[in-house]
Amino acid sequence: MNTMNVKPLGLYIDGRFQPASTGRTIRVENPKDRSVVAEVEEGDASDIEKALDAATRAFAVWSAVQPAERGNIMHRAADLLEKRLPDLVTIEVDQIGRPRREMEAQLGRLPEWFRYFGAVARTHEDTVPPFGGAFLNYTRRVPLGVVGHITPWNHPLLILTKKIAPAMAAGNAIVVKPSELAPITPLLLGDIFKEAGVPDGVYNVVPGYGATAGLALTSSPRIAKIDLTGGTETGKTVASLAARNLTRVAAELGGKANVIAFADVPVDRCVAATLFASFIASGQTCVQGSRLLVHRSIHDAVVAELVRRTNAIRLGDPQDRMTQMGPLVSEKQRALVERYVAIGVAEGATLAAGGRRPDGAAFDGGYYHLPTIFTDVRNDMRIAQEEIFGPVVCVIPFDTEEEAIALANGTEFGLANSIWTRDITRAHRVAHQLQSGITWINDHHRIDPCSPWGGFKMSGLGRENGLVAYEEYTQIQNIIVNLSDAPFDWYADDATEKRYS
Ligand code: NAD
Repeated sequence: MNTMNVKPLGLYIDGRFQPASTGRTIRVENPKDRSVVAEVEEGDASDIEKALDAATRAFAVWSAVQPAERGNIMHRAADLLEKRLPDLVTIEVDQIGRPRREMEAQLGRLPEWFRYFGAVARTHEDTVPPFGGAFLNYTRRVPLGVVGHITPWNHPLLILTKKIAPAMAAGNAIVVKPSELAPITPLLLGDIFKEAGVPDGVYNVVPGYGATAGLALTSSPRIAKIDLTGGTETGKTVASLAARNLTRVAAELGGKANVIAFADVPVDRCVAATLFASFIASGQTCVQGSRLLVHRSIHDAVVAELVRRTNAIRLGDPQDRMTQMGPLVSEKQRALVERYVAIGVAEGATLAAGGRRPDGAAFDGGYYHLPTIFTDVRNDMRIAQEEIFGPVVCVIPFDTEEEAIALANGTEFGLANSIWTRDITRAHRVAHQLQSGITWINDHHRIDPCSPWGGFKMSGLGRENGLVAYEEYTQIQNIIVNLSDAPFDWYADDATEKRYS
């Protein structure tokens, strides 16, 4: 598809692209040079209603399809998605500015989500609780209904896929409100599902702004669940609006992940780990290793090498395979990073690398910022506590295991951490004391459709991925069958005990 459309890309409702009721469009900008990637129709509350109408009709059809057949359709969608990936990668790189080699690696895995959840739909078993007596008691998991998905810009297709694969496999119909910064690829999935055999209206996408389309979707009594990935403040707003209708909420929110490096980690390994954890996606990931907690005995050697390697990261055109770091997604995001760099300096932290825009005319038109390292950081500094969502890492030394754990748990967030050590008992001991939904040992950023993903504390509610994600897109129906044909008449006037439970 040529994204330089003459005509704006429509909303995707009821299996086809449609104009929005607003008559307005959203201009999707390429963050590397501010050129227009595409114009997309801007939906609002009335378009959300239209999408909910289509989804409500489609739910009746899709929920009646046998789970094994839904699984087959998910597998077809995976195969079709695989074929379309090269185009989708190109568009994803243009709309968010992440380097091509990162997006190829990330999007290359998406078909696995449809295959995994298709297999779950086919194989999921219900339970037969031991009710006792002459009864058969069994549970059925039935889909929730129409569900709303609100997604951010940082991994537009990955995050959406994590939500739609379990929701669709479980038999729900979906209305998506994608990020206003990255609505193109979510819209393009529509035709893939159609071709795979998903009935029209099961997958609907209404691009628009949080305060209009997002608000309308979240507050609608017509949705059974709202599943949001975004900032913690957005999560609180969405959860409070949903509560008015007792709408279920799943929320994948902000983070401040630690890379925890013990004294036995080789310096090179610690540095490679930190670079990967902290700087992919220009640091714009919820599990970014934004804090390096490093044992004091290796601190100086790690910092020296980390600074050297950070200064060598190649910024450039994200479509160029040699580029290691692209721009930030928007002017607003870069301004936020610059504000935090100024805060860190004012708080007394030492700027050891970066801290500014790169030099050179090639970077002038885009939202580039150098990868940045702060040392001499105290845990109570704002740069150590608040989510920056950019290429900034704070280095904090520790002396003991207890201190490392206390530091790691010492923020309001609890999404992810990584532990680096060769000591297997220490690794597990520390992992069990961390207040985070995800802990990697000698790895970071690792994700799989089978592996539950979500946060403790202010990092969110509910889980993506794994059996639990499928189950959270269903509700339990309990069936109690009396196997006895013996006559029963509570009001028979014979003064006998009828029934004890
Ligand atoms: P954001 O909160 O600004 O926006 C997220 C989505 O919510 C967008 O689609 C936006 O339009 C919508 N929205 C905003 N206000 C709304 C409202 N009042 N009602 C309904 N919808 C509303 O976040 P962002 O800048 O797009 O993404 C970055 C944030 O996402 C970071 O905080 C990051 O940590 C978080 N994130 C979390 C995870 C995770 O898995 N936990 C993954 C990726 C990103």
